Amino acid sequence: MADIIRSIRGMNDILPDVTPYWQAVEHTLKTVLSGYGYQEIRFPIVEKTELFKRSIGEVTDIVEKEMYTFEDRNGDSLTLRPEGTAGCVRAAMQNGMLNQTQRLWYMGPMFRHERPQKGRYRQFHQVGVEAYGFDGPDIDAEMILMTARLWKALGLTGITLQINSLGSTDARLAYRDELIKYFEAHQEQLDEDSQRRLYSNPLRILDSKNPEMQALNDAAPKLIDHLDQESRSHFEALCQTLDKAGISYEVNPRLVRGLDYYGKTVFEWVTDQLGSQGTVCAGGRYDGLVAQLGGKGATAIGFAIGIERLIALLEATDALPETPQLDAYLVAVGDLAAAQAPVLAETLRDAIPGFKLISHCGGGSFKSQFKRADRSGARWTLILGEEEFNNETVGVKTMATGEQETVSWYDLAAYLSQ
Ligand code: ATP
Ligand code: MG
Repeated sequence: MADIIRSIRGMNDILPDVTPYWQAVEHTLKTVLSGYGYQEIRFPIVEKTELFKRSIGEVTDIVEKEMYTFEDRNGDSLTLRPEGTAGCVRAAMQNGMLNQTQRLWYMGPMFRHERPQKGRYRQFHQVGVEAYGFDGPDIDAEMILMTARLWKALGLTGITLQINSLGSTDARLAYRDELIKYFEAHQEQLDEDSQRRLYSNPLRILDSKNPEMQALNDAAPKLIDHLDQESRSHFEALCQTLDKAGISYEVNPRLVRGLDYYGKTVFEWVTDQLGSQGTVCAGGRYDGLVAQLGGKGATAIGFAIGIERLIALLEATDALPETPQLDAYLVAVGDLAAAQAPVLAETLRDAIPGFKLISHCGGGSFKSQFKRADRSGARWTLILGEEEFNNETVGVKTMATGEQETVSWYDLAAYLSQ
């Protein structure tokens, strides 16, 4: 084993013992999203580096130090997508979809060169949701209500909603000056990252994960106190709808999000059950991005859910979904039985829609095949030996009780359909 080629650090294999949970979670996500009229879009995993630089922003963790960027054989700078919003907007623009409203979702791997730890990987998976062309707070509310419904459908608990408004660009600029003044007055308390960001991107200091920055950030002036009138009424209308719908939330003035393109509403769903990687879902409004990428200014809002963290939270709260049980395991001993087994299996699959059956392949003794049947978790073990073959019957063992009966091939489908 010593010299086999291993996977890249922070990029995980998702093995068959957990993929059933992924499939169940993905199925629930898709069902809820399509129930609100959101449609799937698929776009490439690799894009021009420029796209991410221009949309996410130069002075962000992602663009500064997390992107997998490389030159292809033509000398073009390409990047493995670190998130989906940029590619989704690019695809919608390029395909002329922004002259009308759109509700879209996508799911797949994202790549960020971060320090791998629990809940933080270099290849991870997101389901992303984006809506274009909706200006009012009703769509903000819809998105948040939809996430709440997702948690309900998944049986997820222990997760709380934080919201904030980042206001208009002008309001943010005015606030930025005030924030710089505040941090300048406390410069000796700034850590290295924050020193560096003081003039390039002071809002990002508020997003710091360094506990030593906490007190300073807590006492900083709050953007929510400096909102422009339009953003204020937008935010108030959103809060009212959430109140009416019975969704509880906390207004977190330090919630600024790690990406540049957000304005007005931002939100996160967080849990305290996953250590410091507690944000399961994050999103907000990014009305300026389409124009920033050269399109006609369609407004936009979206969010992304980290699927690894979602599944970890389901596990931590004992709420992993039920995964479908195997119906039957067909044991066949002897050449004649082994030749017949695949045919018998097909007749069962034809007769019983959705029947989940493993037909043992590769021979072996009764004992070794029974062992496999036992481990498969099947409801029934079907036994086809020489005697059963000659009589055109099968032994049917109900695994829960250990009871066994002999059933004719011709009655078998009816017997197993009960
Ligand atoms: P964080 O503050 O934890 O770094 P972020 O603000 O960089 O998160 P987003 O870009 O908003 O994260 O991504 C949305 C969601 O994707 C996050 O809330 C999280 O659930 C998940 N996510 C982000 N980065 C990773 C990662 N490296 N590994 C696993 N999940 C991640
Ligand atoms: Mg991050």
